[in-house]
Amino acid sequence: MNGSVSPTVATSQIDSTAILEVLKVGFRYGAKIALDDVSMTLNPGEFHALLGPNGAGKSTLFNLISRLYQVQNGEIRLQGQDLGQHGAKLLEDVGMVFQQSTLDLELSVAENLHYHGSLQGLSRKLCRQRMEEELARVEMSDRLSTKVRQLNGGHRRRVEIARALLHRPKLLLLDEATVGLDPEARKSINQHVRKLCREDGISVLWATHLIEEIDEQDPVTILFNGKVKAQGLSQAICSDSQCATLADAFEQLTQNNREGNRP
Ligand code: ADP
Repeated sequence: MNGSVSPTVATSQIDSTAILEVLKVGFRYGAKIALDDVSMTLNPGEFHALLGPNGAGKSTLFNLISRLYQVQNGEIRLQGQDLGQHGAKLLEDVGMVFQQSTLDLELSVAENLHYHGSLQGLSRKLCRQRMEEELARVEMSDRLSTKVRQLNGGHRRRVEIARALLHRPKLLLLDEATVGLDPEARKSINQHVRKLCREDGISVLWATHLIEEIDEQDPVTILFNGKVKAQGLSQAICSDSQCATLADAFEQLTQNNREGNRP
């Protein structure tokens, strides 16, 4: 990534069937390059893992996709349309679960969800109906009146996922959604999100530093120091690197520029 001029994105690179395309994206905080020429494609119904240690650039990419930051170089397209030009409209189809919980601890589950539903423009009735459906899916129908403060970490995450789905997005972005949870809660959240892809056709970008959250058949983008180090199905990355496991492949792909971080 050099200077501030965006690289031209060739029309032939644009995949009109993709739900999300990140095309040669670069981003820097002052002199610090956080993303350098990053490209990736996410297809409908796909569970795509964005694997990288702390500092890899995962949150920066999420903040660009959610338009918290403006793309400096390259282009991001949602359902074939440029986010820079049609951002507000396109984000109606995106749900987001941030790394840090954004629930109000003093409000009940229902109050938190109602508040979010109103921001999304849902009527009270529709919001109630969707809230009940989403909470049932995460087996939390009996917690509507419970204050969030009284829920454990895994249950808070489930509420955040239910909240992110209230407006029926096509794309769900989860930034280290299982951080701080015990292994059982991590597995349960991971399986729930995979089910959303399988059964509802929701596309998921799952940022993680935990290799054990990735299955052999998952499409993966390995991000390290702001650069894409490998892309493809997990098992293909392993076989291309002649490694038995994704952990070994990761080690090999990043060993020349390690900064002490590893997933
Ligand atoms: P990840 O989410 O993978 O941990 P981040 O996107 O948070 O990575 O960070 C990528 C790089 O950008 C890191 O080197 C980080 O220190 C740097 N960075 C992130 N946010 C800022 C900021 N607001 N100002 C300066 N540097 C930042």
